[in-house]
Amino acid sequence: MLEAPIISTHTRVHEIAEPYWDEAYDVIVIGAGFAGLTAAIEASNSGASVVVLEKMRAPGGNSIISDGGIAAAGTPMQQRLGIEDSPQLMYADMLRAGLGINHPDLVWEVAFRSAEVFQWSVDYLGVQYLDRLDQFGGHSVARCFTAVEVSGATIIRRQMEKLRDLGVEIRLQTSLQGFVRDTDGRVTGVRVQEDFEPSHPEVEGDRLLQARMAVVLATGGFGGDVRFRSVQDPRLTADIDTTNKTSATAEALIEALRINAMPVHLSHIQLGPWSSPDEKGFGVGPRFADYVVFQYGMAVNPDTGRRFVNELADRKTLADAILAVGKPCIGIADAHAVAQSGWNIERGLEKKVVREFDELSQLASHYGIPADALQVTLERFNRCIEEQADPDYAKPVIAEAAPLSHPPYYAMRLWPKVHFTMGGIQIDVRGRVIDLNGKTIAGLYAAGEVTGGVHGACRLGSCAITECLVFGRIAGRNAAAEPA
Ligand SMILES: Cc1cc2nc3c(=O)[nH]c(=O)nc-3n(C[C@H](O)[C@H](O)[C@H](O)COP(=O)(O)OP(=O)(O)OC[C@H]3O[C@@H](n4cnc5c(N)ncnc54)[C@H](O)[C@@H]3O)c2cc1C
Repeated sequence: MLEAPIISTHTRVHEIAEPYWDEAYDVIVIGAGFAGLTAAIEASNSGASVVVLEKMRAPGGNSIISDGGIAAAGTPMQQRLGIEDSPQLMYADMLRAGLGINHPDLVWEVAFRSAEVFQWSVDYLGVQYLDRLDQFGGHSVARCFTAVEVSGATIIRRQMEKLRDLGVEIRLQTSLQGFVRDTDGRVTGVRVQEDFEPSHPEVEGDRLLQARMAVVLATGGFGGDVRFRSVQDPRLTADIDTTNKTSATAEALIEALRINAMPVHLSHIQLGPWSSPDEKGFGVGPRFADYVVFQYGMAVNPDTGRRFVNELADRKTLADAILAVGKPCIGIADAHAVAQSGWNIERGLEKKVVREFDELSQLASHYGIPADALQVTLERFNRCIEEQADPDYAKPVIAEAAPLSHPPYYAMRLWPKVHFTMGGIQIDVRGRVIDLNGKTIAGLYAAGEVTGGVHGACRLGSCAITECLVFGRIAGRNAAAEPA
């Protein structure tokens, strides 16, 4: 019999002494992105019965639309290429970008396990990566691998296949509505809404699912939740576009807060500096900006025609610098840079997000940049490349970079968009959720973007996938080690 749940007027949390459950599993994972699917794989491989609950009609979350870039330090490929890297260096890079407010133990876990988890994705999941390594802003060395198809879908597909082989169900249109706890406060299950429709979230029909061992919360970030994000950072209103899916909302995070999970860094919200105001969402511009302009080219203030930042700085430094200019800035590269980067920029050109110019003066006139000033900037920038040193902005000069003197020139407008939420609920290195008193919430684990602390004030590019896989594995294994 279903006991009358104790529901206080202030919370929607069920506290039930001896509930009637509609279904029971050992481990219930909420969210079918990188973190949740990884946790489900590990929990299942540890012998637990597992179900993954996903509110949308399709799995994948933001993970499936990501570029599939994953950072790993001290890998065989780096060694082959003579790149000296280590978990210590990656840890130092992440802390520096995060302005030192990252939780050091979590950062270390990610950096230390980065090579191992990358190899796991190759050996166990069967993910294939492009035969290249990239150095994104804020990383001291090239350590970023990119999944083939340049898409997180490559990784998600492999994870789904594994879960199918393991017999783990991914139940779609099933939305977490609240946690069920026993009278000792242990999370014993979840209240969910089936047949969930984002356009009609108020539909009734809750069911109670028991988690005999634990629940793993992996519901991602809240970059698509204008109300929640603009409370944390009032600048981030609906006027600022986002690269996130509309499903990246905060309701599951809020449910965790309702049961006293400790919030961490909620107002630290990352703006992607490589996005274009000439298209909606993530689009095709970031690939040109991140892989071509920032690595091989330069960015200028259209009013002055001058550079204004180290283009290989971390995302926060870059986005803040563009916002300080106050209008879209212009990222510039040439034919040699495009060839050197190895990227096909046709889609950007087709969508007119990236533009091609035979002469620098045409580029200047198109964007309203003073042509003489731009010519002076270009010559100065080219000297930096030749001399392998940038006295103006200390941009690390990539060894293969060449002076921008091979027309046609390519350019795009740069304007930041909401991309990633560094904040979330606190976890410890075992993936256990921590409450307001600094104690673990029994029966509750979390992983991925719903957690806070790993990235501090600024996440470095390609470190989110590493984090999701590292903490997804940890949370899944430890959840399945709880007593049933
Ligand atoms: C366009 C784009 C490109 C990116 N590229 C990269 C990259 O190349 N490298 C990198 O490291 N990072 C990248 N990132 C960031 C990275 O992809 C994300 O941080 C990461 O995928 C988050 O994974 P996750 O599993 O935590 O959440 P998600 O993948 O977002 O999955 C969370 C899932 O939980 C579901 N959910 C939410 N609430 C509920 C609920 N109440 N009930 C049930 N289910 C719920 C969501 O629908 C979603 O499917 C990118 C992000 C974007 C948006």
